[in-house]
Amino acid sequence: MNFFNNYSLHIPNLYCHTLESRSKLIYGKIIIRKLFQVPILRKFMAFDFVKKLDFDSEFFDLYKLSESAYAAISKEKYEMGGNAGFIDIGDYLIMIDSTGDVDAAKDLQKAVAQYSENEPNFIVITHYHMDHLMGTSLFDVSTQIMTSDRTLRSIQTEGRKRFKEFKSMDLTEMEESLKNETDEQKIWEIEYDLKFLKTIRSENFSLREPNITFKEGCVIHGDKSSVQMRTFSKAHTDGDVIVYIPEEGILFAGDLLFANNHPWLGSGDPEGWISANNEIIELDFKVAVPGHGTLATKEDFSLENKYIREIVDLAKKKIETGEDPTQIKKEDFSSEFQSWESPILEMNLKFLAEFLKKS
Ligand SMILES: [Zn+2]
Repeated sequence: MNFFNNYSLHIPNLYCHTLESRSKLIYGKIIIRKLFQVPILRKFMAFDFVKKLDFDSEFFDLYKLSESAYAAISKEKYEMGGNAGFIDIGDYLIMIDSTGDVDAAKDLQKAVAQYSENEPNFIVITHYHMDHLMGTSLFDVSTQIMTSDRTLRSIQTEGRKRFKEFKSMDLTEMEESLKNETDEQKIWEIEYDLKFLKTIRSENFSLREPNITFKEGCVIHGDKSSVQMRTFSKAHTDGDVIVYIPEEGILFAGDLLFANNHPWLGSGDPEGWISANNEIIELDFKVAVPGHGTLATKEDFSLENKYIREIVDLAKKKIETGEDPTQIKKEDFSSEFQSWESPILEMNLKFLAEFLKKS
C-alpha cells in the first residue's frame, strides 16, 4: 500500500496533504536530556552496503547509507541527544532532526558541507522533544523547517511551557553538586545539563520552530530521488514523523525506534506505538536510523513491540493483584531485554502506573 498516493496540493517539488506556513519563531520543548542518555549496544552490523565515513566529530559517527542518505549516530561517550542525518536528493538537501546539542549540530553542518554541494534546504523534525530540536537555532529562514501539524502543536503548548520553566530554573544547586561530585559519569551528566540550560539562556540563542507543517504525509521530489514523510498519531508522541526513501530502502524512524534499549513511553500511547511499528514493518527498507541507538532493521521494531507489550502486561498484572507496578525489575523481563540499561525503565513504570489506572 502506498500511503503517499492521495496527496493533491501541489507546490513545486513539495507535495503535502496539508500545508500551512508559519513564519513566527518560537521555542520548543525540553525533555531533560539526561533521560536520553541510553547506553548504546554496539551490536554486530550486518550492513555491508553501509560505509562508515572518516568524519571527525566528538559527538557522532557518520555513515553513508545509500546514494543519497547519511546517518549521524550519536557516540556513546559524548551523547548528543537524538541521532540525526541528511539526504541529498540532487537539487535539495534535507536534514532529519538537529540533535540536542548546538555544537553537535555545527558538526552536522560541517558534514553536510563536506559531503554535499547543497546547503540544507529543509530540516524535518521527527517529534517535539528537545533532544532532536536544539540545532534548528543555527539556521536562518533560508532553511525550511518541517514537521507534522500535531508536533508543531506540541511545541507550541507543552514545549513553550517547559522552555519557560527551564529558562527560569535556579542553577545554583546543580553548580554546587558539581563541586562535591566524584563520580565521573555523574560529573559529565551535570556538566552536560548545565551546558544545555546555559545554551537556552544565552542571548544569541533562538530556537526555530517549524514553519511548514503537514497533516498526514508529504513528499519532497528531487532530481535524484524523492523523500516521503508520514505521520502517526499517539505513538512515541502525538504526531511522530518518519522519513522514508523507498527507492533506496532507507528509513529514518525518529524516536519510534530506540534500538536495543528501553523506549520512552511517557509522551505517547503504548498501543498506538505498537500499531505504528506494525505499519512501519510493512514498508520496504533495509536499514533504519533510530532516534536513539545504532543502525537497525525491521527486527528491531518487532523487538521493541515485544518490549512494549511485555512491560504493559507486567504492569497490568501488578495493578490487578493490588501491587505496585513501579517495583517491576529488569529481571522480570524476557532474556532479550536483560542487557538493556537505562533510567527510562523506571520512568516507564511510573508512567504506566498512572496511565493504566486512567485507561
Ligand atoms: Zn523523543
